[in-house]
Amino acid sequence: MINEKNWARELSQGLIDLNQLVKKGFISMHQTCELKPVIDHFNIRVPHIFLEEIEKSNEAISSQFLPSSNELNVLPEQLTDPIGDERWSPVAGITHRYPDRVLFKPTYMCASYCRFCFRRYKVSDSSNNLKKDDFLNAYDYIKKHSEIWEVIITGGDPLTLTDQSIASILENLSEIDHVKVIRFHTRILSVLPSRITMSLLDIFKKSNKSIWIAAHINSADEFTLECKNAIAKCVDNGIPILLQSVLLKGINDSHEKLISLFKKSIENRIKPYYLHYPDLAKGTEHFRIPLRHAIELIKNLRGKISGLCIPQLIVDIPGGEGKIAMHTHNATEVYENVWEFESSLNSSRIVIKYPNSI
Ligand SMILES: *Cc1c(COP(=O)(O)O)cnc(C)c1O
Ligand code: SF4
Repeated sequence: MINEKNWARELSQGLIDLNQLVKKGFISMHQTCELKPVIDHFNIRVPHIFLEEIEKSNEAISSQFLPSSNELNVLPEQLTDPIGDERWSPVAGITHRYPDRVLFKPTYMCASYCRFCFRRYKVSDSSNNLKKDDFLNAYDYIKKHSEIWEVIITGGDPLTLTDQSIASILENLSEIDHVKVIRFHTRILSVLPSRITMSLLDIFKKSNKSIWIAAHINSADEFTLECKNAIAKCVDNGIPILLQSVLLKGINDSHEKLISLFKKSIENRIKPYYLHYPDLAKGTEHFRIPLRHAIELIKNLRGKISGLCIPQLIVDIPGGEGKIAMHTHNATEVYENVWEFESSLNSSRIVIKYPNSI
């Protein structure tokens, strides 16, 4: 397409080493020594689209992508595989924790390396990418498990793959009748919106499955003009989008910031789905706020802003025990058919007769 930017070129314009960060003035020369061990574990990729915001010291953007010596602070409770993906991995690239859906992780490359990433011990290392045989084994596993209704393609960022690779994955899945839904988990709408090309959307449209996108976006500032256009292009072409955000200290951990993020999302036709409490990934403590504050933050949205704007707060229990949707309102049955509710308008406690059945 004539007006479409070359996304591969834009991807290559991201900053991927410490010297580039020094040159831009994002870190000082003497910080390179202390940051070296940080990036030995987890590469840097600062997306080109945000360089200007980072120059303007927009911390909600810069702290997501610039490496920090805080990442060297590893607590005993922190894990390399905080949500237990490996425990539920029957073949390489597949995690099958819940009966009707699997995660499928073809690549561990991304268009940005987010410093809080819960898969940071695998992500950015290309040796973890699936090999040809792994793909065949993964398709074979999905084929043999007729309970799999949905395949969630994640990673890494699956939309950093070429059109050809994405088309091949969709073709292989299209032959499996029991798979009805394919969900792409991606960060590119924010960090590399030029990736949403008409040729990619044509590949999605050709699929005989329902394709959904779960977009990872954490702050209202990420809704650049390019991002909004990419979202509109997806939705206009029949791809529904959900928002998945991570609750991050200094980035979106206030009532006002969450409201503006979720409102922006709905204004752009993305439904807020999950707000993830950060997992216990090594070296990410500086991004976490206390869980009880997280519950208060999300609870305070109900009754204040449109219900469309409110996601569920999710905690993934360490060890692979799965997701918990945190209860953000209290309701207790005090006697039979008498309930105590907490009002979402003013937090007052209301005890009323509320019949359960007639
Ligand atoms: C998060 C996750 C899913 C998706 O869960 P939904 O609640 O359907 O969004 C599926 N499989 C695994 C292993 C997961 O961790
Ligand atoms: S895009 Fe997703 S998988 Fe990649 S580094 Fe960011 S959070 Fe991790």
